[in-house]
Amino acid sequence: MAIATVNPATGETLRTFDELTDAEVDRKIARAVTAFHEHRRTSFAERAERMRRAADILEAETDELARLATLEMGKTLASAKAEVAKSAKGCRWFAEHTEALLADEPHDVDDDSGANVFTRYEPLGPVLAVMPWNFPYWQVFRFACPALMAGNVGLLKHASNVPQVALAIEDVLRRAGFAEGVFQTLLVGSKKIEAIIDDDRVRAVTLTGSEPAGRQVGARAGQNVKPSVLELGGSDAFIVMPSADLDDAVDNAVASRMLNNAQSCINAKRFIVHEDVAEEFTRRLVSQLEGLRIGDPMADDTDLGPLASPDAVETLAKQVSDTVAAGARLLTGGHPIERPGNYFEPTALTDIPEGSPGHREEFFGPVALIWTARDVDDAIRIANDSTFGLGGSAWTRDEAEQQRFVTEVETGMIYINKFTASTPEVPFGGTKNSGYGRELAGFGPRAFVNAKTVWIA
Ligand code: NDP
Repeated sequence: MAIATVNPATGETLRTFDELTDAEVDRKIARAVTAFHEHRRTSFAERAERMRRAADILEAETDELARLATLEMGKTLASAKAEVAKSAKGCRWFAEHTEALLADEPHDVDDDSGANVFTRYEPLGPVLAVMPWNFPYWQVFRFACPALMAGNVGLLKHASNVPQVALAIEDVLRRAGFAEGVFQTLLVGSKKIEAIIDDDRVRAVTLTGSEPAGRQVGARAGQNVKPSVLELGGSDAFIVMPSADLDDAVDNAVASRMLNNAQSCINAKRFIVHEDVAEEFTRRLVSQLEGLRIGDPMADDTDLGPLASPDAVETLAKQVSDTVAAGARLLTGGHPIERPGNYFEPTALTDIPEGSPGHREEFFGPVALIWTARDVDDAIRIANDSTFGLGGSAWTRDEAEQQRFVTEVETGMIYINKFTASTPEVPFGGTKNSGYGRELAGFGPRAFVNAKTVWIA
């Protein structure tokens, strides 16, 4: 894939970038190593001051930064602004909490000598971050805030369609006071990633993206005995039981499915509805989908903008048509919209056959997949009948049902009467083919550290 800014709302190529040469990549890794030796010696207070300054810059320049994201990947301007604000919140949260999260941890030992025994958390060095375009700021700051606060340095390989955002992030962190080399963007395609992971100077890797990319990067990290965190795709369940407030459930179903132009790993994708309310829920869901305002993501009144690329439209169109060909019922939408840009109709499918794409694959676009469940057991069975296990939500006022969903749904995150979301204070990540490792909260700073046992007799 060429490294370029192509406006998803028009298809126009606005800027192209040359990929770094191998020699340029080598120099940047060398710079990262030099920067690490200095950066790891800075105090938490110094790092926190820089992180807070980064938050100030993000807040002061929200409008320009948000425009760049909308231009490159097509999310609505309002959601791009919210994403920049959330990134600033991430900077402030980790500035405030990382020192305590990484404090030495004393251990009581069965030893009369009065030994001083503790765990110390030390940074690892340069960490490679392979990141996706869908939340082009937040995904990067979600990694960078805890990693840099822990004393690591970052090498960003961002998705090839968001090069200007990638460069803007490096610029923000540099102006915030982080020394040259502490955070660098590598404008490279994914073919160069394996050689970078193989490089001894790179100490760990994190990837947020698709399952195939995760498998490749995780395998390469394993061959090199390097720690990795994988945040991959999802096909999150949204379970609705009869005791739920149906208005609330439908509003949230639409909001969660359509969040970020329907391209979030934690969008609700599979709607599993108890048979007593399935007909009414489906009728209202379809009616709301048909009322969405589709258009220019820069406009204030747009609910749903374009998908990020023509490939995304093509993939989604095929997934929908193959699922219908296998016997699913199309309730609304189902096709690309004939206009410039990468637009797809809000779509709902039900009676999804086993083994069809709707049953097995992640749909990364505005398609609601609907199942009917006989009872709570059936709802849990359908929810768990997925190779993914990222997030999920259940809508019920029955406390016994709530506890069953909390305990029995096989995901990294389960939300009750609220749709899955990410925020710095709460761990984020999945299980099964949605990946391993956790980001944010206490897990973020501890993702890339050497937990060193110290025993001073
Ligand atoms: P991709 O996996 O194609 O791209 C993500 C990143 O990985 C990009 O930087 C891409 O580079 C790079 N990449 C792609 N293939 C390889 C490879 N073989 N080796 C190394 N790097 C590679 O994902 P999409 O862009 O399609 O993003 C959407 C996917 O990401 C969805 O499945 C979604 O669910 C998932 N995702 C998961 C999240 C989570 O937190 N769990 C959050 C957001 C998205 P390039 O652009 O150059 O190809």
